[in-house]
Amino acid sequence: MSDQQKDNENEYERFCFLCRRPESECRGIIELPNNICVCNDCMQKSFDSMNRQFSNGNLNLSDLMNQMGNVSLIDLSAMNNAAQQPKIRKRKEAEEQPAFDWKRVPAPHRIKASLDEYVIGQEQAKKIISVSVYNHYKRVGSDPADGVEIEKSNMLMIGPTGCGKTYLVKTLAKLLDVPLAIADATSLTEAGYIGDDIESVVSKLLAAADNDVDKAEHGIIFIDEIDKIAKKKNTNQRDVSGEAVQQGLLKLLEGSVVEVPVGAGSKNAMVPMVNVDTRNILFICGGAFPDLENVIKERLNEQASIGFYADLKDKYDNDPHLLQKVSVEDLKTFGMIPEFLGRLPVIFAMDGLTEDMLVQILKEPKNAILKQYQKLLAMDEVGLEFEDEALRVIARKAMERHTGARALRAILEKYMLDIMYEIPKDKNIGRVVITQAYIEGSGGPGIQLRG
Ligand code: ADP
Repeated sequence: MSDQQKDNENEYERFCFLCRRPESECRGIIELPNNICVCNDCMQKSFDSMNRQFSNGNLNLSDLMNQMGNVSLIDLSAMNNAAQQPKIRKRKEAEEQPAFDWKRVPAPHRIKASLDEYVIGQEQAKKIISVSVYNHYKRVGSDPADGVEIEKSNMLMIGPTGCGKTYLVKTLAKLLDVPLAIADATSLTEAGYIGDDIESVVSKLLAAADNDVDKAEHGIIFIDEIDKIAKKKNTNQRDVSGEAVQQGLLKLLEGSVVEVPVGAGSKNAMVPMVNVDTRNILFICGGAFPDLENVIKERLNEQASIGFYADLKDKYDNDPHLLQKVSVEDLKTFGMIPEFLGRLPVIFAMDGLTEDMLVQILKEPKNAILKQYQKLLAMDEVGLEFEDEALRVIARKAMERHTGARALRAILEKYMLDIMYEIPKDKNIGRVVITQAYIEGSGGPGIQLRG
């Protein structure tokens, strides 16, 4: 083994093969042949158990031989497992671990400016998220010794599907260079039922951080479809994928030490377990909350119809910014439990996308879809242009699908398929123009030859 390889090996922890705890959490570890390690506690327990059986007379020589036979059987499978086991990076000692340097995190206006390069519109949401993230990392780097403890700024993001919730969080994590786990609340169930355990979200984050616990503890967990774990109404059965999941998430959101499997979703598999502290993990929950607008409208209408400020009943019917008026009360009516909402102090809504925004999304972000197609064709030395009217028709078609910006790529892909197939055939083509007629099906794209 080269020195470099040895150094790399030293960065990883050894695990007890029996109790699956890492070396840092055991009182010493003993290395056996075939890369198998057993901690002192488990070794002691095995000896004690054998001793007891001997002294009780339950174990005679032939039993012992049998047991040894079993041990050798276990060792055989262990040899395979030990080679495949995921590795976990050694944690830094408390004194060698530098306090989190929050000054490394850009100021809110810088975060927002970077988000602007990728995410179209959603001005208020980008502002709120920039400030909350900045405060979150200030909190991580702050010294609680003076008795002032800054509270966690976990967030709840409300917005229709395809308006950029996941995209915003992904962009943010990339910008801050922190690990991100994206989980789906619909797959979570109370421990013991079919589905993913709630702690599996932390396990995902650990995987995103390359099994580096220190890094994972400063990461972001995004839980999508959070509206799907609203309390079920009118049910007598145990709500294992609704209210129970909200209850189970409470301690994670607040901050607690959880034991999670490394590199696998299941605790049953023979995988190492590590402790991860969620105190400094930022949780962002997102959901479309269908029908929440009606709940808000009902509340506002009720308020507006009482007394002095009595107002027209249909005042809020066509308000495009109704979601922005959401209150904790509305979310409680929707089925989120108060304790859960209490742990998500930053609540904000995203705007639904308009036709104009969809056109912008097509061409303006740093990695806009049009720019991606242009880059692909440029590699064949072919220019690609889109008529403004063509983009508008694409946006209009996307609006009809009601899946936000997600529809754009699907629609465009259909038209670009023929272009991508035909163009490389003819080396004389130097430029392609996607026209309105081509998108509407009444004509073909404009083709210009080289020269
Ligand atoms: P959801 O709100 O359902 O999580 P996503 O964030 O997954 O939606 O959006 C789907 C895709 O649409 C993203 O990958 C992104 O390319 C695009 N998109 C959505 N909203 C925006 C936006 N405001 N600006 C730029 N791109 C967007």
